[in-house]
Amino acid sequence: MFDKILIANRGEIALRVIRAAREMGIATVAVHSTADSDAMHVRMADESVCIGPPPSPQSYLSIPAIISACEITGAQAIHPGYGFLSENAGFVQIVEDHGITFIGPTAEHIRIMGDKITAKDTMKELGVPCVPGSDGGVPTLEEAKRIGEEFGYPVIIKATAGGGGRGMKVANTADEMESAFMTARAEGKAAFGNDEVYIEKYLTTPRHIEIQVFGDGKGNAVHLGERDCSLQRRHQKVFEEAPGPCITPEERAKIGKICADAVARINYIGAGTIEFLYENGEFYFIEMNTRLQVEHPVTEGIFGVDLVREQIRVAAGLPMSFGQDDLEINGHAIEVRINAERLPNFAPCPGKISAYHAPGGLGVRMDSALYNGYSIPPYYDSLIGKLIVQGRDRDEALARLDRALGELIVDGIDTTVPLFHALLQEPDIHSGDYNIHWLERWLEANMGE
Ligand code: ADP
Repeated sequence: MFDKILIANRGEIALRVIRAAREMGIATVAVHSTADSDAMHVRMADESVCIGPPPSPQSYLSIPAIISACEITGAQAIHPGYGFLSENAGFVQIVEDHGITFIGPTAEHIRIMGDKITAKDTMKELGVPCVPGSDGGVPTLEEAKRIGEEFGYPVIIKATAGGGGRGMKVANTADEMESAFMTARAEGKAAFGNDEVYIEKYLTTPRHIEIQVFGDGKGNAVHLGERDCSLQRRHQKVFEEAPGPCITPEERAKIGKICADAVARINYIGAGTIEFLYENGEFYFIEMNTRLQVEHPVTEGIFGVDLVREQIRVAAGLPMSFGQDDLEINGHAIEVRINAERLPNFAPCPGKISAYHAPGGLGVRMDSALYNGYSIPPYYDSLIGKLIVQGRDRDEALARLDRALGELIVDGIDTTVPLFHALLQEPDIHSGDYNIHWLERWLEANMGE
C-alpha cells in the first residue's frame, strides 16, 4: 500500500479523497493555487504545495507543476478526483512515465472512452445496447441528411470529442439539419479542436440512468446498480438518486451484468460509470466516464461501500474488497448539488461565507469544503457542497432531504438551495414521474428561464 498520495484537485472532492486516505493510514498531499491558500483541502491534508496562480491552466491543470509537487513530497500516487485532469490520457501517461501510480484507469481506456465514436463502437462490440445512429463519423451534410431520412427525425448531431453538453445539436426536421450539422461541427472544432461529428436518433422522453462499475484491472468487475440523474439543467445534473425510481430488480440485474461483463473483458481498473438514456424499458448507451462521479455518494450510501478506498486499493494492486454477491441495496439515497449561484438565472455567485452550518442527524451526509468565513474564489466550478440523504425508502429520503435542507445555513452568498425547497413541493418529484426535459420545462414555467 502507498505511504503517501497526492490529490490533484480542490474543493469537496479533495476532502473526500483525504478522508478515505486517512482512514487507510495513508498520508496526503494537497496542491493548491494562490487563490486557494486558505481552502479547506489545504488545511485538512498532511502537507500542501502551492502549484501556481489562480487560473486552472496554470495550477490545477499544470502537469509539470503537479508532477514536481509529487517529486518534492515523495507522493507515490495521484488521485485526480473528477474534472481537471481526471480524464486526460496524456496526463496519465506522464504520471506513469515518472514512476508514479495514477489512481484510476489506464491511459488507453481513458482515450477509448474519451472519443465518443470509439467509445460507442467499443461498447457495441462488448454487447452494450447503444442509441441507433450513424456508423461512425459523418463527414458531409449530404450524408447527414441521408442518415436523418434513414432513422427519422428528430436526430441529434454530436461532436465526437464533445463533453459537458457542448457540441450537440438537435435537428427536428430535414430543414434544420444544415444549421444543426454546421453548428455541432463548429462547436466541436472551437471547444475541442476536432470537428468530427456523428448522428443519433434523438430520444424525446428518456430518463438518464447510469450504471456504476468497478474493476480490478485483472479481468474481475462488478456493478453497483444504477443512479437516476434525470433532473438536469443544460445537461448538468442537479439531483441524483439511487436506486432509480423506475428500474426493476430484474432490469438492474440484467443491464448491470452487461456492464460489469463489458468492463471485465477489457480489464478495466477502478471506478467507472456507463451512462444510458432509458426509454420504454430500453437502455441506450451514451457515454462512459472513466473516473469517480460527483454523484458517487448515493451509490456508496445504498451499498455501504467506500468507492475511493476501493480505488486506492486496486491502484495499489490489491484485490477488490467485495464481489458481486456481497453487494446488496439497502434503502434509498438522494444527492442535491448546492452551487454558489443566484436564481433564477443561475449566475455564479462567489463571495465570503458569513455563516455556515451543516445539517446532521440520521441518514445525512454533507460533503462540502465550506467553513465560516471562507471566501469562495471566482475562478472555479460553482459546486460548493453536496447534501446526501438516505432513508429506508424513497419517501423517507425525500422527507429527510426536506428536513436537512431546512437545517442548512449558508449565509453571505446565494445558492441553489431554494430550487430544492421548491422542487420538493412538486408532486412529480414525489412520484418520480419525470424525464430529462422535466426540469428545463419546470424552470421555464416557474423561474422564467
Ligand atoms: P456530454 O459528454 O456532453 O455530457 P452526453 O453524450 O453524455 O454528452 O449527453 C449529454 C446529455 O444530452 C444527455 O444526458 C441527454 O440529456 C442528452 N442526449 C444525448 N444524446 C441524446 C439522444 N440520442 N437523445 C436524446 N437526448 C440525448
